[in-house]
Amino acid sequence: MENIYGVTYEKLEEYFLSLNEKKFKANQLYTWLYDKKIKSFDEITDIKKPVIEKIKESFYLGDIKLVNVERDKLVNKYLFELEDGEHVESVLMRHDYGTSVCVSSQVGCNMGCKFCESGRRKKVRNLTKGEMTEQILKIENDINEKVTHVVIMGIGEPFDNYENVTDFIKIINHPKSLAIGSRHITLSTCGIAPKIREFAHFPYQVNLALSLHAPNDELRNKIMPINKAYPLKEVIDALKYYYNETNRRITFEYIMLDNINDSAKEAQELCKLLKELNCYINLIPYNETNNIDFKRSKKEKILEFYDIIKKNNMNVTIRKEFGSNISAACGQLRSKKEDLWKHFI
Ligand code: SAH
Repeated sequence: MENIYGVTYEKLEEYFLSLNEKKFKANQLYTWLYDKKIKSFDEITDIKKPVIEKIKESFYLGDIKLVNVERDKLVNKYLFELEDGEHVESVLMRHDYGTSVCVSSQVGCNMGCKFCESGRRKKVRNLTKGEMTEQILKIENDINEKVTHVVIMGIGEPFDNYENVTDFIKIINHPKSLAIGSRHITLSTCGIAPKIREFAHFPYQVNLALSLHAPNDELRNKIMPINKAYPLKEVIDALKYYYNETNRRITFEYIMLDNINDSAKEAQELCKLLKELNCYINLIPYNETNNIDFKRSKKEKILEFYDIIKKNNMNVTIRKEFGSNISAACGQLRSKKEDLWKHFI
């Protein structure tokens, strides 16, 4: 049995063809799943009973259960229980340009970034495509409106779960499912160079963000162990390749850590490193968490860093803050709510 929310449109067409049915049934079924949001296959009225019975033999309607929501003005944080009792979180953000959801891609994470709360728990397993799709579907149900943007920036490293994540993108992008435009989907990676190259050939125009956080190998090795496997030169070369293949501008995320990576020298180094790339730099004021010692850079430091990059004629922004009241900001998933989490871990 397979989770139906993890089945791409093409696979569903193949499935109906294998039953000697018209492949157009995939269209009907997707409408029931994603538009009418059925709770049981028996609600389907335009597919014959024997075919419905066949569908029921092969598929079931979802795995994940919404167990908690924390609501703030512009942000909701959702806690989901998976069918094996594991938990992940997703975050809904209301922007002036739409409603975005930050999805998790793994239970735990093996990348070991020193500043990240979500990575303190080692990877338990990859999320399935269905579990990722359902995070958005359940959130749409909760707010009773359409999600317009998706960022794959929750718990986990998406390129450590490549097949599922790319199929998930195909599923949510399909016009008959959630119809999230590919330009409204952003995947963020810590820099797994071979996967960046592979992603250059993924035929959907999604945005790629790289969690850089340090402009040289010495510092990056200290805060992001993945850099030892894929040093900056390899990552930057892979990104140049990605840019040449896709013509899509890359976003670099740079969290501002007090006295670690926020000096003028590092700003200059960063400009030098990224000079030849067509990119955006997004400076992210670090979100402090209970369990990790890093501190957020002082405001003046962030502004000074920003000015240096601007003076180098590069595209730079300082990320707007979201969700820190309810520990839903970047890198804070599964932090403060220890009392709640105790029940789950
Ligand atoms: N594994 C992926 C996606 C998840 S992290 C990646 O590394 O990109 C999403 C972003 O939040 C990354 O840029 C990550 O480095 C950043 N982040 C982690 N902890 C943070 C914190 N405490 N404050 C701000 N950003 C943080």
